[in-house]
Amino acid sequence: MSQKGLEKAEKYVGEHTSGEELELYKRSKEMLLPRDEYKEGKLKLDFVHTFQNGDIFKATEDNEGFAKIIVERQGEKVLDFDELLTEGYRFATPSYLKTHESDKAATELAGRYFVHRDKQLVFVGNIRTPDDIFAVLHEAGHTHQKRQELKNGRPRESVDDRTKRLKDEIAEFSRRERDAWKVALKTARAIKRERHIDLFESYKNFGAIKRVIYVALLSHRLAKEYFKVEASEFSEEDMKIFKDLFDKGKFGKSGSKNPESNGEKKN
Ligand SMILES: [Zn+2]
Repeated sequence: MSQKGLEKAEKYVGEHTSGEELELYKRSKEMLLPRDEYKEGKLKLDFVHTFQNGDIFKATEDNEGFAKIIVERQGEKVLDFDELLTEGYRFATPSYLKTHESDKAATELAGRYFVHRDKQLVFVGNIRTPDDIFAVLHEAGHTHQKRQELKNGRPRESVDDRTKRLKDEIAEFSRRERDAWKVALKTARAIKRERHIDLFESYKNFGAIKRVIYVALLSHRLAKEYFKVEASEFSEEDMKIFKDLFDKGKFGKSGSKNPESNGEKKN
């Protein structure tokens, strides 16, 4: 996005969120926005963390920009994050974009966490703290989803049709995001149970985990609102629906009853 576009988007966020929500959003932006050196492939992915039980988490990249994310125990690899991806997928870093032919969309997202379906790559951000492992698991979760089919608007699409199409699209997008977080949680639990590696050790409690999910969904909601909803003719009521779609506590089953909502309560 251009600098001007970015300013406009920021203005939108400022006008449509407030209080704690806005603070969380700002903090998450600082955390998630990659440093320029990483984005440009000058700073390489190279993060090592020792868990309390002595297991070592390592995220590195090779000279082609493929990333390797593993956990070692006494010098032996006990977890390779490649195992968590759908077959054919690999992890990559912005350096990949320098050593391979790349497209505009990927270049614009360089440095962030995202899945590139055509290239079957999971791009990872600038992993700097053990908290970031959650984001890696989330993207891995996306590789197990089918590609989202986006219908193009017909040339003479009515406002109503367009509104309906965008509404469906946003609802599906929200579902996929919540699903990827759910998969990430499930994966972390299975790894803890089966391999005795606590990937979420750095989170104080379940409330802290929920906050990460909430902030991620909030960012998506604001982006969708900004790009899609603003450009269409959604009513106040529709806007309320979108807010709820991405709202806190909605990342579990599609309903509001969430068996895991025993963490600390926001509000
Ligand atoms: Zn996602």
